[in-house]
Amino acid sequence: MAQKELRDLLTETKKQLEHLRILGVEGIQISPAAAAPIPVVQPKITRPVTPRVEPSKPAAAIASEPVTTLFGELAPAPGKLAKSSETFEVIHADIGDCTRCPLHQQRTHVVHTEGNRKARLMFVGEAPGADEDIQSRPFVGRAGQLLTKIIEAIGLKREEVLIGNVNRCRPPGNRAPTTEEASMCKPFLLREIAVVQPEVIVVLGNTAMKNLLDTREGITRLRGQFQEYQGIKVMPTFHPAYLLRDPSKKRETWDDLKKVRDYLDSHRRSEP
Ligand code: URA
Repeated sequence: MAQKELRDLLTETKKQLEHLRILGVEGIQISPAAAAPIPVVQPKITRPVTPRVEPSKPAAAIASEPVTTLFGELAPAPGKLAKSSETFEVIHADIGDCTRCPLHQQRTHVVHTEGNRKARLMFVGEAPGADEDIQSRPFVGRAGQLLTKIIEAIGLKREEVLIGNVNRCRPPGNRAPTTEEASMCKPFLLREIAVVQPEVIVVLGNTAMKNLLDTREGITRLRGQFQEYQGIKVMPTFHPAYLLRDPSKKRETWDDLKKVRDYLDSHRRSEP
């Protein structure tokens, strides 16, 4: 198998396993036959082989179509997030009075994702601050008030979008959550995303971007360019707390949000 094919196969397998993990699958049984090493067979190619191409469908169209599974139901196209039938109530009950990471020791409240559970647009931040910890709601302090203005600037109301964080407990002194803390909490956010399936997710700042996109790139490099999480458009932009410290960055944030607004306007869902 060519190196590129092998890399693509591995990437796809990783995505599918991540997806299963979000849905709560904790392990997969592999039969001994399937686990056995695949014998390497050198193909005897005597003439160049032209792969058969379906003439009527471009590759991109094939990749984005749902596929029929073994049991006849429709599965999402490879790389697309399957719609989850969980509810937020189930997810939040699962989180419970969480003690999975050390952040529980100093928190007042667990701060869950809030807003429209049918939202087309979601905002993801880092973790609650002092105001959020007290009020048990995301983005209600000064940075949150600026976020509300940003949402309104693109013609939406705060109640129309979904707002959440990578971590649900306030890190002491508002430090960024550690990788371990984030990895404990992130699966719940991913389960919520699978329920709502927003069309666009705006990741606010480095922590949210790195956690959702699994990237080492910094926000300054990726902001303003649409990325993708499991078939969902992701727009990285500056965190509103950063904009409070450096208002000159509001211009770039506005440019990023206009791209989001234009995308949503041009992909308006037809009413049922
Ligand atoms: N900063 C965040 O990242 N999230 C909040 O909820 C509040 C401030």
